[in-house]
Amino acid sequence: MAENDGLIGVTVLGATGSVGMNTLDVLARHRDRYRVAALTAHTDSERLFACCREHRPELAVLGRAGDAAALQDRLREAGLDTQVLSGPEGLEAAARLPSADYVMAAIVGAAGLLPTLAAVRAGKRVMLANKEALVMTGRIFMDEVERCGAELLPIDSEHNAVFQCMPPRAAGADLEDVGVERILLTASGGPFRTTPLSELHAVTPEQACAHPNWVMGRKISVDSATMMNKGLEVIEACWLFRTTPERVRVVLHPQSTIHSMVEYVDGSILAHLATPDMRVPIAHALAWPGRMRSGAEPLDIVASGRLDFEEPDLERFPCLALAYRAIAAGGTATAVLNAANEVAVQSFLERRLPFTAIPQVIEATLDAVEFHAPDGVDAVLADDAQARTVAARMVARHASRAAP
Ligand code: NDP
Ligand code: MG
Repeated sequence: MAENDGLIGVTVLGATGSVGMNTLDVLARHRDRYRVAALTAHTDSERLFACCREHRPELAVLGRAGDAAALQDRLREAGLDTQVLSGPEGLEAAARLPSADYVMAAIVGAAGLLPTLAAVRAGKRVMLANKEALVMTGRIFMDEVERCGAELLPIDSEHNAVFQCMPPRAAGADLEDVGVERILLTASGGPFRTTPLSELHAVTPEQACAHPNWVMGRKISVDSATMMNKGLEVIEACWLFRTTPERVRVVLHPQSTIHSMVEYVDGSILAHLATPDMRVPIAHALAWPGRMRSGAEPLDIVASGRLDFEEPDLERFPCLALAYRAIAAGGTATAVLNAANEVAVQSFLERRLPFTAIPQVIEATLDAVEFHAPDGVDAVLADDAQARTVAARMVARHASRAAP
């Protein structure tokens, strides 16, 4: 522990978001154990101010320098000595802060990559919600975890569930060596699982963000509706659990009661069940290898009743097939997939692209951009940038075709 108070210092990157606020809720229940070291947000200075007042971090970070200066003044007036920084340097300082032992990586999208990597390189316990960082950099990310002695714990509910159902495994061992046949990743199917296909082109951002079982940020909510979220999660699972997509089976499970499963060679399947509440995986990662209360309602197994399972429909969810295509292509293909998805989802949220054109933009970008075997993060970011340019052009072309 970096400070002498005996408490574990925790930095929350993306503190004002859905995962960030859930993390602060869990931390507030265990003030005898954890101290908040740094909190970051992008633009929501009002919420960050409230979080600073409650948790009194050493450091706070906002995107723009002007916003940071204004927050610094407000915090001083409120009698807090929190330092406020801004921009990428601020995020990196928060990720590396010596008084932080653990870092919750909960920024959304590619913006989270460099701060999350900074936390890895500082050898922290990195609690990974920001799946896009791992999808983009894959092997580079995992090699850095190993090289820097960081501890990587999955926050994504499926991966946290798999982590809990996995047997211990030595560094070089494969899944087969420990008797694991495959990972079963569950997916709710999102809000449009049963919507007639002919109605999907007209769905609105509000409908897409109304997830039946989870309350989440807008980007991941749209990803859940297209099932690109599950595609990103298959990629995430391959890296986290050192396996191939053939050993990761996606199963639709509309109730979101089972968060994922591990199937063993003897025919056993171990499953993780809980109420759909992110505080469960967050508390798990904070307390690991111990356990502590999360604040989530315990699952009433009798009241929850049925557990249904279905095969995912790739015609309804073409984004899932695109993710498999990117994994098979390898190299920077998954970074290109992620970048095109971020551009398409943002355009959909801004009502510049219909829902059904999201996979079209991603597919056209995968067709147009050349993938590379990246020798470092800069090479990944170069292909990410190119994919964004191409995807934005595809969105503009779509809009001009759709114009009356
Ligand atoms: P939200 O949109 O709710 O929150 C995102 C956070 O990131 C906010 O604090 C936001 O700040 C900050 N942020 C946004 N853009 C930037 C940027 N350019 N630079 C720095 N900070 C930025 O997202 P979620 O909490 O839903 O998701 C966070 C991550 O966790 C995602 O990668 C998602 O896939 C993953 N995840 C989320 C789950 C969930 O239940 N929500 C479940 C599993 C995984 P501000 O508020 O100021 O905009
Ligand atoms: Mg998930």
